[in-house]
Amino acid sequence: MKIQQCPACGHKINLKQAAATKKVKGTFMLQCGKCKEWSHECQRAAILRNVGSVVLIIGSVMGYFQLGGVILGPLIALAGVLLALTTLLFASRVIYSAP
Ligand SMILES: [Zn+2]
Repeated sequence: MKIQQCPACGHKINLKQAAATKKVKGTFMLQCGKCKEWSHECQRAAILRNVGSVVLIIGSVMGYFQLGGVILGPLIALAGVLLALTTLLFASRVIYSAP
C-alpha cells in the first residue's frame, strides 16, 4: 500500500489508516491523522497520470491489433504504465483549504 506524506506536518499517512477521505470535484482528498489537515495531489500529477492512462490504452490497443509491429504497442503501453506510476510515487501533495 502506498504511503502518502502530509504536506503540512510531514506525517506519513497510510491510505488505510487515514483519518478520513473524501472526494471534492473528482479530486481524492486525504485527511492527516495527526494535524487534521486535508491534502490532495497537485493538479499537474493528476493530469500526468491521466495522460499515462491514455498512453497505456493506446499502447494496449496497438499491441492488440499489432499496429506498428509486435514491439511498438507493448512498448508504448509500458511507457504509459511508467508515467502513471511515476506520478503516483513522486507527486507532491498540496494542502487543501476549504472555501
Ligand atoms: Zn499532517
